[in-house]
Amino acid sequence: MDILQQDIMYLPGVGPNRKKMLSQELGIETYGDLLEYFPYRYVDRSKVYTIRELTGDMPFVQVVGHIMSFETFDMGPRRERVVAHFTDGTAIMDLVWFNGGKYAKQNYKIGKDYLVFGRPSVFNNRIQVQHPDVDDASKVDTSAMGMQPYYHTTEKMKKANFNSRALERLTKTLVEKLKDPFPETITDEVLSRHHLMSRDEALRIIHYPQSARDLERARLRMKFEELFFVQLNILRYASDQRRKYRGYVFNRIGDNFNGFYNEKLPFELTGAQKRVIREIRQDMCSGKQMNRLLQGDVGSGKTLVALMSMLIALDNGFQACIMAPTEILAEQHLATIRKFLDDMPIRVELLTGMVKGKKRQEVLDGLLSGEVRILVGTHAVIEDTVQFARLGMVVIDEQHRFGVAQRAKLWAKAPQDTDASLLRALPHVLVMTATPIPRTLAMTLYGDLDVSVIDELPPGRKPIQTTHVFDSRITSLYEGIRRQIHDGRQVYMVFPLIEESEKIDLKNLEQGFEVLREAFPEFRLSKVHGKMKPKDKDEEMQKFVNGETQILVATTVIEVGVNVPNASVMVIFDAQRFGLSQLHQLRGRVGRGADQSFCILVTTFKLSDETRKRIDIMCETNDGFRIAEADLKLRGPGDLEGTQQSGMAFDLKIADIARDGQIVQMARDEAQKIVDEDPSCTSPRYQLLWNRLKELRKTNVNWAAIS
Ligand code: ADP
Ligand code: MG
Repeated sequence: MDILQQDIMYLPGVGPNRKKMLSQELGIETYGDLLEYFPYRYVDRSKVYTIRELTGDMPFVQVVGHIMSFETFDMGPRRERVVAHFTDGTAIMDLVWFNGGKYAKQNYKIGKDYLVFGRPSVFNNRIQVQHPDVDDASKVDTSAMGMQPYYHTTEKMKKANFNSRALERLTKTLVEKLKDPFPETITDEVLSRHHLMSRDEALRIIHYPQSARDLERARLRMKFEELFFVQLNILRYASDQRRKYRGYVFNRIGDNFNGFYNEKLPFELTGAQKRVIREIRQDMCSGKQMNRLLQGDVGSGKTLVALMSMLIALDNGFQACIMAPTEILAEQHLATIRKFLDDMPIRVELLTGMVKGKKRQEVLDGLLSGEVRILVGTHAVIEDTVQFARLGMVVIDEQHRFGVAQRAKLWAKAPQDTDASLLRALPHVLVMTATPIPRTLAMTLYGDLDVSVIDELPPGRKPIQTTHVFDSRITSLYEGIRRQIHDGRQVYMVFPLIEESEKIDLKNLEQGFEVLREAFPEFRLSKVHGKMKPKDKDEEMQKFVNGETQILVATTVIEVGVNVPNASVMVIFDAQRFGLSQLHQLRGRVGRGADQSFCILVTTFKLSDETRKRIDIMCETNDGFRIAEADLKLRGPGDLEGTQQSGMAFDLKIADIARDGQIVQMARDEAQKIVDEDPSCTSPRYQLLWNRLKELRKTNVNWAAIS
């Protein structure tokens, strides 16, 4: 048996308790799992500071000194805070324990020299370190300490004293215990082409680095490995799809497309729209299934591109379907499409959870008979009861709410060929998103899709003016807002609502609503939030869409896709609580008409540096791609909206898509080359890689979902 498959309980230092905790808290079951549980940070422990040098914003420091006295403070029933006053002769600082203080008092001796390590902060004008690591100074040689690895642990583990240090000891034991080299997963050829170190060397160094240079090389090797197999998985999947299935050939451009283009299209297409429609047409004629991701900033006119693509499907005798993430959006698409098509003889119907009874049956019948040519819906469309006569094209709007598995369910709705000698054909898929995804992330999340970009807004749009105000000064803006409404415009006012603080947030929204109602007594206000019944929400929303109300007070339920071109002001309260891409999405609700629009970001007075940066970039640019890039850098990809739900996301253990863009590219090129060279996975040259991929697919749920 592969030694790395060995159960973790055989490792000295791991008893039944720790085995359970490793498994439950960190998902570590085997030796191999532990080896791939990488440190998230390293601290150079060869340097010792003096207390006088310390400031509150240093990351981690160590000092040598002694405890002068202990002090204990009561913090409620059976809780105490223990403070040790500590000096090295240059100054005094405090060591603070909120728990475990009793242990400190009993074990650390006054007057004895200790090496203390931790993150300094300032409290009451004095430097303190909370929950420091304390070691007998006579027993450690700091010059030999080198880089100390830090491992994430959970609260539960920390309570049981199973901290980073304990994990460090375990990995060290493991690395020393396993003398035989760890098996290689990547072929020599690939390794030498990219000057990468062996897996064995990398894994040993990564837990136990002697120098920063070694560590960098080890990390590069492990990052490459991780990204390479991700890419191999995606490209392998895409290539299998192409080999197993074909796509319908839509080579006719007929009355539907031409009639619309010549008689109904109310404006010139932008250059970008024309280019994208050309790309889509090429896909549709290629004989392969189209899987295209259409990225375009909010307001760039994706809906029209979707409609024209669907008309091509119709011209070739097929039906088409467009799915939106919410009922409101689906209804809006229906209205937009019907308006665009005007009196053209094309039956367009809506199918959402709200379409019930007789109407629903009518729509279902129409789909089966083929009379319904375009279906607009929500995910209700993927239910098994919904059957099409000839579904040939599917548009998915705002993809990040639809996973790969759901896409696959749609394919099942395509007609089966009667000729068994043919490869099964699948409907073409166009996925649209207004959340611009930086290239490296797109490559990783949607690596099986081709990408088109609409990088041009329809002419005549004025860039939205964005300003930042502190909440104490908000009333000074009310006059401006009032003028806008008197000129016939409408206004959005958004409050945050997140699950963790839902009750308080709802209260804030209600209070905010009352305040606004008093501030604008002459206008009518609507209010929507995610906790309302869908029916009530839709009604309120509709009032705003119809212009019956002038102000819409809402939570982020309006974030995606809502189109009220008459709205010209977006006020976002507590803007510091929103992420960048969310702010950008919200802002995109205005500026959809020809008039000047405004976005006002209202924040509290005290802002963290990161928030400051977010607000600044919003005020500086309207460019979604710049914002997405900044967002990725500020937050890291794990937090990016949609990465969890995309169905192709996987926890990256070491690589960071925001920072490791070059390695992503390197890994992708290499993986592409191999998939091209060995499409059937039979070349002995690559067996090592295919076997490893199989293994990974078996152990990683998310990977399996696409294979
Ligand atoms: P997206 O879905 O990309 O955010 P929409 O499709 O909702 O954008 O389009 C935004 C607005 O721009 C709509 O009112 C649409 O009718 C209009 N529009 C789309 N294309 C053009 C164009 N080429 N010229 C002028 N207006 C356009
Ligand atoms: Mg849209």
